[in-house]
Amino acid sequence: MAESLEALRKRIDEIDLELLSLLNKRGEVVNSIGKIKETQGTKRFDPVRETQLLESIKENNEGPFSTSTLQHLFKQIFKASLDLQKTETKKILLVSREKRSEDTVIDVKGEKIGDGNTHFVMGPCSVESYEQVREVALEMKNQGLQLLRGGAFKPRTSPYDFQGLGVEGLKILRQVADELDMAVVSEITSPENIEVALDYVDIIQIGARNMQNFDLLKTAGSVDRPVWLKRGLSATIEELIYAAEYIHSRGNSQIILCERGIRTYEKATRNTLDISSVPILKKETHLPVAVDVTHSTGRRDLLLPAAKAAIAIGADVVMAEVHPDPATALSDSAQQMDIAQFRDFMKGLQPLLNMNQKAT
Ligand code: PEP
Ligand code: MN
Repeated sequence: MAESLEALRKRIDEIDLELLSLLNKRGEVVNSIGKIKETQGTKRFDPVRETQLLESIKENNEGPFSTSTLQHLFKQIFKASLDLQKTETKKILLVSREKRSEDTVIDVKGEKIGDGNTHFVMGPCSVESYEQVREVALEMKNQGLQLLRGGAFKPRTSPYDFQGLGVEGLKILRQVADELDMAVVSEITSPENIEVALDYVDIIQIGARNMQNFDLLKTAGSVDRPVWLKRGLSATIEELIYAAEYIHSRGNSQIILCERGIRTYEKATRNTLDISSVPILKKETHLPVAVDVTHSTGRRDLLLPAAKAAIAIGADVVMAEVHPDPATALSDSAQQMDIAQFRDFMKGLQPLLNMNQKAT
């Protein structure tokens, strides 16, 4: 007498459980093979071996399934096995949320970047004189801000444009900052200057054009000083994360990631502010994230709305450039704010800041 439907289903259930166990057993062997391949540096995907396995299915298939159906199923198993090897050997990055779930908080002269409050980095594009820096710094103090930026080593597109005052510029920033009890953020463009920067800057900035200057990243990673890492002109979010990993892997975990706009076909702004990179970076990494509204928009009239968007979307820091007289600025004259505009900018952000500040 034929088996009952119930009995047949029971057998199917048993076979399925056997298949499940066999697939996982296969997965364990696959992982062991993956580890050997990793140490030998052999490629995981081996097309010759895959063809042999499919051939063997053809030779040994006794039905009722057709060979092509079974080969299709086995191809899925091979693919899943390859994916398994990839996740097993995937390196979990030091900068990733997966590695560290808590937010990194960076203490710069008592200001805790990454603590949930909005912080500001302001100052001229280039350091031009002591008076120029001091005028901006005094207004920052009025506004209760202490992270003073200014470019001393300027990476300019044209070699004929103002290249910055170099170490002299760093000295001016330090002097003004010391007089007013502020902190200095300034770009360093070569590994040889990291050492000298330690005497003058509280945060080492690595600019967009140097995001993949790996020697610079490694050198900045080997000193005990926070690093402000800007996204490259055409860098993907993943490339920015790997650049940060270069710094972290050398021992320095004090990194602030800065979205500063990327190159697209859009011409209405200097760059395209990739605002969604902020929550992505916050999700993928444990590092504080900043938005540079000056270089991303390149437009004075967009600084305030862009900063509002940055704060609303979760940026830890907003960066913008301020110059006492932008018309005469030696760099970025079209987009820096003057002192009055800076005041209005901060006033315009006030409602958002009040909402955003953590209760203390
Ligand atoms: C800067 O912040 O001074 C600067 C040059 O910006 P970026 O590297 O983003 O172009
Ligand atoms: Mn600038």
